[in-house]
Amino acid sequence: MKLFVANWKMHKTRGEAREFGEELGRRMVVGGGGEIVVAPPFTALDAARDGRGRWSLACQNVSDEPEGALTGEISARMAADAGCRWAIVGHSERRRVFREGTEVLAKKLARCREAELTPIFCVGETAEERDAGLTATTLVRQVEALAADPAALPLVVAYEPVWAIGTGRSATAEDAGAARVHIAQLLSDRRDLRILYGGSVTPGNAPALLSGSGMDGFLVGGASLSAASFWAIASA
Ligand code: PEP
Repeated sequence: MKLFVANWKMHKTRGEAREFGEELGRRMVVGGGGEIVVAPPFTALDAARDGRGRWSLACQNVSDEPEGALTGEISARMAADAGCRWAIVGHSERRRVFREGTEVLAKKLARCREAELTPIFCVGETAEERDAGLTATTLVRQVEALAADPAALPLVVAYEPVWAIGTGRSATAEDAGAARVHIAQLLSDRRDLRILYGGSVTPGNAPALLSGSGMDGFLVGGASLSAASFWAIASA
């Protein structure tokens, strides 16, 4: 089954999250769609939960430490306790704004496993890396964070070229497909791997991107803020 993840980033109050859930639930009655995951901000996890289990919850980040004197941080165990089954790790905004690199991301992956959260691990090249022909090299470097992650456990990798995130300029299905093949080769020892594409996915480009790239689904940012457009993507 295809997997569709809504990454709300720093958007939505609890009331807005509830409205989204009600609207998504109404639209799901029609049927179709794949496996749905919603990644709200921590404060809206409870409000975004579906009592009927039609979608599951992800957090957008976890601390690299299990617990301690780290004011403002949220541990993987706390996220799991708050209802998350998944955790986004290594989103390009965290890599860029919060300077998260291989070492800290490897620790976050380990914290996820201790808490039984399935990581949605993000990779993808910047525009400069792409222009310099370094897309493949970048992916090799980024998957190094997974070196100690047990190959037998389920893993989701999201290929999100940084230049495509929030820009309205998605990758072509061919480029996304090539990245998928490369990631699958790099992680050929994994027993349960799903590879998603993320970056300016819309209801308009989703069907061709999905079928043309062979991806297992999408990680959706901007277009996931509306239940209507997210469901249009997930049910296309
Ligand atoms: C994202 O940030 O994970 C993302 C894919 O964003 P957008 O869909 O807005 O490009």
